[in-house]
Amino acid sequence: MNERVDRLRAGLEEPLLVSDPANVRYLCGLVSSNAALLVEPERVQLFTDSRYAETAREIEGVELVETKRDLFQSLSELLSGRIGFEASSLTFERYARLYAGALEPVPRYGLVEELRAAKDDWELEAIRRAAGITNIAFERFADEGGLIGQTERELAWRMEQLLRDGRGEGTAFPVSVAAGPNAAKPHSVPGNSQVGRGETVIVDAGCTIEGYCSDCTRTFATGPLPDDLKRAYEVCLDAQLAGVAAARPGASGPGVDAAARDRIEAAGFGEAFGHGLGHGVGLMVHEAPRLARESRDTLAAGNVVTVEPGIYLSGIGGIRIEDLVVVRDGEPEVLTSFTKDLLEVD
Ligand code: ZN
Ligand code: ZN
Repeated sequence: MNERVDRLRAGLEEPLLVSDPANVRYLCGLVSSNAALLVEPERVQLFTDSRYAETAREIEGVELVETKRDLFQSLSELLSGRIGFEASSLTFERYARLYAGALEPVPRYGLVEELRAAKDDWELEAIRRAAGITNIAFERFADEGGLIGQTERELAWRMEQLLRDGRGEGTAFPVSVAAGPNAAKPHSVPGNSQVGRGETVIVDAGCTIEGYCSDCTRTFATGPLPDDLKRAYEVCLDAQLAGVAAARPGASGPGVDAAARDRIEAAGFGEAFGHGLGHGVGLMVHEAPRLARESRDTLAAGNVVTVEPGIYLSGIGGIRIEDLVVVRDGEPEVLTSFTKDLLEVD
């Protein structure tokens, strides 16, 4: 059928039922919330309901089986024998339905996700385009200014508009804007608090092209910052640059994480950086490989990862600087080119 399916097949011990929507899209191109592929040695069957059948019929190399809306009920009636399933994404309810039939389900983990980690040229081009739109959106956001007095939610919406204006298909994830003390919470949700003067404003945003995500974070200052935040910015940027430089083929997830984390710890901010350094980006904004202390991944050419150290000072504010990076032989390619200098935008 296609090269991706061939690569998957090479690692299979029994037929694999692929039901994770991103994995189905990766293998055959179908965008559907209710589809599954059965990958066997000699054929690939695509199961989906009538809503997706017309699109599915045009896909080359798969045999379409139109099912009822209750896809997993249909699968349990149609399939038998030992079949692998995607244990990380199949819900218990769906699993129970499959198990009620004549097939013997075998849990399998990360088989398609592993393939997805190494991007081909077409995928890289889609991610580059998504990153390019994001760069322009950040430039316009900074040029427009007027942060002080607006709420985090208003600024998040403005960023979303800029991504859409740039012809992004949509946001890769809900735009995050965190200002003042909220910026000290890594996963702060934009609220109705107004941005004040002399604060940091963390903006984390990305869009999709052909389903592929971009992901970028910059931290702006609304006027001169207190000394501890100014110093934290310098340390965070230094760590970020060290992390990017370490993102090379053969480097381990914990190794790249340490390249950045060591700088932050040496500067006395170790306690203020709780999360991992980065994650893979592709059809999902969080995918393999992971750059973190507990990661077991090793980087390879073609991986696309974020490098995003943060320093969060409780009650004061926070800094995060995130680039999207292509791992390749030699220097990593940084896709998020918007400046990392500390910009005063008020
Ligand atoms: Zn991000
Ligand atoms: Zn990220």
